[in-house]
Amino acid sequence: MKNKNNLVKIICTLICISFIIFLNIKSVSSEQGIYLNGTGEVIINDSDSLDGFSKATWNMWVKQEEYNINSGIVGKYRAVNMGRSYLIRNSLSNGNSVSVAISSDGINSGSYTSNSILACGIRENNQWTMITVTYEGSSIKYYRNGVLCDSDITIISSIYNSISPLRLGAGNNLFFNGGIDEFTFYNQSLSKEQITRLYNESFHGNNLGQSIPVLVYHKIENSTNDLIIVSPEQFQEQMEYLYKNEFNTITLQNYADWRNGSFRMPKKAIILVFDDGFSSVYNTAKPIMNKYGFNGSVPVVTRYASFTENNSGYMNWNQINDLDNNGWSIESHGITHSHSLTLNESRFRYELSYSKEILTNKTGKVPKSFIFPFHESNKDYAFICGEYYELCWTQGSLNPTYDFKSTPATQYLSLRRINIVNFTTLDDFANYLKRDTDKFGEWNMQEGTGTTTTDSSGNNNIGYLLSGASWYFKNSGTISNIIANNFEIFSDLSQEGNYNNQMFWMVKTNKIENGIDNIIDSDKGKTQIKLKKEKIWPDNMDIEGNYYAVHDPIKIIKIS
Ligand SMILES: [Zn+2]
Repeated sequence: MKNKNNLVKIICTLICISFIIFLNIKSVSSEQGIYLNGTGEVIINDSDSLDGFSKATWNMWVKQEEYNINSGIVGKYRAVNMGRSYLIRNSLSNGNSVSVAISSDGINSGSYTSNSILACGIRENNQWTMITVTYEGSSIKYYRNGVLCDSDITIISSIYNSISPLRLGAGNNLFFNGGIDEFTFYNQSLSKEQITRLYNESFHGNNLGQSIPVLVYHKIENSTNDLIIVSPEQFQEQMEYLYKNEFNTITLQNYADWRNGSFRMPKKAIILVFDDGFSSVYNTAKPIMNKYGFNGSVPVVTRYASFTENNSGYMNWNQINDLDNNGWSIESHGITHSHSLTLNESRFRYELSYSKEILTNKTGKVPKSFIFPFHESNKDYAFICGEYYELCWTQGSLNPTYDFKSTPATQYLSLRRINIVNFTTLDDFANYLKRDTDKFGEWNMQEGTGTTTTDSSGNNNIGYLLSGASWYFKNSGTISNIIANNFEIFSDLSQEGNYNNQMFWMVKTNKIENGIDNIIDSDKGKTQIKLKKEKIWPDNMDIEGNYYAVHDPIKIIKIS
């Protein structure tokens, strides 16, 4: 009996250890929002740019602390003649539903409420939720966390241009209580895909970066007789555009690291890929990119890199190593650049394994990505590739996306793949990268100080924080206080850990049911959480790995 008890003890110890949580201190508290105490709001003076549409999208992040019945989330609405444009509010139990009122004449309004059973609104308090409403002249659609939830038909064919101010966190005189962030409004009805992307790309979203654009280049040379050649002048213009528009280059290696939880994704990330490893990448592209601090990724064809003649047209290993040593990522594009599907399985496996071996030997780093030559692949070969590489890049199934197959070949994800060729004008280039246009208001609520928040849509409709509205980072306590208040602590909180060269606090706890969101929410910051073992994925999360963004509805099994 005694032995058995000891065994139980040992097993328990092992399980408990598996619940070590790593909180990445560095990434906490970098973002702000606005906190409304239940009587406050952000108000924006009336302006013609705020209404009069026949199409619109209102996209908002909210975190309710307490339900104020029918509280406004956003509204340009006063219940007086000529005062009514639009109002979106919390409705039904705990704000489970979203209610919309729109008026075409400022006097009468149509009122619509999402189905209570579908729960398209705020389901739980203290959880960031993205609420989106679209309107396009005959219907209203309700989205929750980027997912279409319900719709209603309306006979209101356009929205009245009222004199009422725009109110965030209000709209009627019933005030929202909790956090608000990233209010972005469009004078068009965004598609389902666009709204899903807004969710993914938000600071609060699950899959930050899932639709990072991937620009694919080949040669940067002065010649116009080949589609895949981009001139140095063109390339210079494009890099300058990226720089001026605050894009941040990441490499395919960074991307793989991010999926593994060891790389922090910057905002406006973009990947520049130079297929095949042509020498003009080294001689021409790299010096231009250096001016802007940009890095690229090169899928190398190992046989081409081993050519010994001086003018092979391909980079040699010295040049490749120089890129590698300067923050570029070197990936595999096979040994011979063959059409993979024409190779038998063992020959294909050789392309995968031997190119990986050569690259590892030459650069001292194991490549994480295999880019199928010509992007030609099928399910079986993508699966086989997954045995050798973390990411296997195949033909994009939808334009412009870049699908890849990842180990263990159970999922396809998409990045936006964009081929840059010799007839790509700067206008084309800008259009490829342009996100959803026709914003009529955008309040990112990043100031963190003062009594106004700017509108970055171009309309410059300043938001004024009224009494009861304050900057929100609730980060007054230390991390250890916050943890101690929410968790039953086993270990010494002063203990720090080192994980993947980043400093982490380590907390051991047996009380991590329901608590994890609170911890992170209290900081209102993006925090990486690494769970050593057990996890349950929320059903709307489709990236496998162990990176969790801050407001994920993570549930962890409690140790019993
Ligand atoms: Zn190629």
